[in-house]
Amino acid sequence: MPDSADRAAPSGTLPVSFADIEAAASRLEGIAHRTPVMTSRTADARAGGQLFFKCENLQRGGAFKFRGAYNAIATLTADQRRHGVVAYSSGNHAQAVALAGRLQGVVTTIVMPKDAPSAKVSATREYGGEIIFYDRYTESREEICAALAAERGLSIIPPYDHEQVIAGQGTAARELFQAIGELDVLLVSLGGGGLLAGSALAAQALRPRCRVIGVEPEAGNDGQQSFRAGKVIRIPVPRSIADGALTTYLGERTFPIIRALVHDVVTVSDQMLVDAMRFFAERMKIVVEPTGCLGAAAALSKRCHQPGERVGVLISGGNIDLARYAELLR
Ligand SMILES: *Cc1c(COP(=O)(O)O)cnc(C)c1O
Repeated sequence: MPDSADRAAPSGTLPVSFADIEAAASRLEGIAHRTPVMTSRTADARAGGQLFFKCENLQRGGAFKFRGAYNAIATLTADQRRHGVVAYSSGNHAQAVALAGRLQGVVTTIVMPKDAPSAKVSATREYGGEIIFYDRYTESREEICAALAAERGLSIIPPYDHEQVIAGQGTAARELFQAIGELDVLLVSLGGGGLLAGSALAAQALRPRCRVIGVEPEAGNDGQQSFRAGKVIRIPVPRSIADGALTTYLGERTFPIIRALVHDVVTVSDQMLVDAMRFFAERMKIVVEPTGCLGAAAALSKRCHQPGERVGVLISGGNIDLARYAELLR
């Protein structure tokens, strides 16, 4: 792991600042849920530490993605908002953009693969998003999105590589620090890095001694490789049940923040994710999707903290089809 002198880029040169997170927090005030922080003695005993679970599975739209999507739409100009927005996603970002657009009276178009899970398609539609399907094997979603943006004058809201998306995602860790004070470690799910970058910026400003650690699926460890190499590494589409973290490279904006402020990136196996899902269901009575379990799986396997330490765990989402949930837990 690089030491801090090696990692430190002066934070003034990073694409997002803590002030952006504070501004996002005031836009989200009274709109996003201030999600609960749960604890469990059984989890503490298993992990040999004190665990604090920030429950973004209980956020509006079922994941932290609502924070970034709402903030990004809120910072568009009046003219851009009149034209509408477009996003591509088969998952939580689609629902988040559709909901955030509806709440702000902005028309949303979501580009989704034809074979996206029907629960996600109908949730997005119920929130009022117009869905445009594409074939993920023969068509490029980026091209479709860019064409729609050009034809209809839509603004693209990317899932992670965007300043205002990163700032919005950072409000979850800010709330956690405000709610529970000092933490030794904060464990954060890592896909394209919006949540991790935002969390690291919040930690640097509020709890600079807290070690912020990204957690990825073992099969898709592009973030770990990139963190270690000091440059963005691209990998083929990974296979993991953590479908919210199947990104193949970190963003141009998220990577420099992660490189400068994050302590380490670790990986967990799909089996560890299933074990954490079961723990949440049986012991804490909460439904967490596989990607939402990344941080908890790292905490329960004691790989990132010392005995007795205070460990924050960002539970990133809870959207999972019930049949799929049952199948994984069987
Ligand atoms: C999108 C998502 C992630 C990954 O977030 P990034 O900002 O892309 O790193 C993790 N968990 C859930 C539930 C998500 O929806």
